[in-house]
Amino acid sequence: MPLLVHPRLDSKPWGGDRLAHFGIALDGKKDICEAVLTSNDAVVAQGPYAGQTLGDLVARDPETLLGPVARHFRSTGFPLLAKLIDAHENLSIQVHPTDDLAPTDGCGKTEAWFILEAAPGAVVYAGLQDGVSVDVVRKRLESGESIVPLMRTVPVAPGDTLFLPAGTIHALGGGIVLYEIQQQSAITYRLEDWGRAREMHIGVGLAAMNPDLRPEPNHAEMRTPTDRPGPAVHCDFFSLEVLQIGPGEWIEIARESGPQVFTCVRGGTELSTGQGTVALAAGSTTVLFANAGTARISSSTGGRVLRAWIGG
Ligand SMILES: [Zn+2]
Repeated sequence: MPLLVHPRLDSKPWGGDRLAHFGIALDGKKDICEAVLTSNDAVVAQGPYAGQTLGDLVARDPETLLGPVARHFRSTGFPLLAKLIDAHENLSIQVHPTDDLAPTDGCGKTEAWFILEAAPGAVVYAGLQDGVSVDVVRKRLESGESIVPLMRTVPVAPGDTLFLPAGTIHALGGGIVLYEIQQQSAITYRLEDWGRAREMHIGVGLAAMNPDLRPEPNHAEMRTPTDRPGPAVHCDFFSLEVLQIGPGEWIEIARESGPQVFTCVRGGTELSTGQGTVALAAGSTTVLFANAGTARISSSTGGRVLRAWIGG
């Protein structure tokens, strides 16, 4: 059945209050950097599993809930980590490892961003400029100089997606609010932090970096009841599409062989399966496990839903 999950809000000095624009209840807080939607600690909000976490549910019956992908993802629990992020200032310059380079008790971190809001002139930093090697980055870090000039500056606008394979050096620029889908991993190697005095992870970060990755943004074509473009992002770890549902419309979601995550970012929708219906208002997230069967997303007023999933 569809499981509504509670977001967990994280405060940081570089957070803000713009997640409220996408339905997240901030209770007056002005320093919210992340709404973590589907971590293993995410708590089910209603129904027979209310109060239990996604991680606990998956640990009890991974084959049924995750489907045929279960054996690849068991060590990480629920395999899709979705977040909403409000970057009031630039976030750290970082690299995440691939599965092969990740510590054995976790997984790598490939991620993708869907831009919800961007201040005029907002950019992300993604990949190294042509001809810049890892060695050049290392020398610059050793000499205490900023590596920002070595990085590509990529303008983004609302509706853009950016796919960041593990190994891509990247930083989210200030002024951007986005949805992020990623592998269920917290492994981040920081290389530089815009003058903030946090711990750096230079050795492992340089070892994990693939200097040839230079992602470009794509403007996501939206899926509607009558038009089904390919996914905005499709990789071994997740797929992502944007559903645009007009007033009185619905979209049928075929059964997937793995789990799915639905996050409403505009308007209001309902998600139904043979086992039940949940209201999916802006800011709400629902998980469907692999045994859920087909689903329908409908809306009386219109709405926009981000759908991330694993499977064919
Ligand atoms: Zn990252």
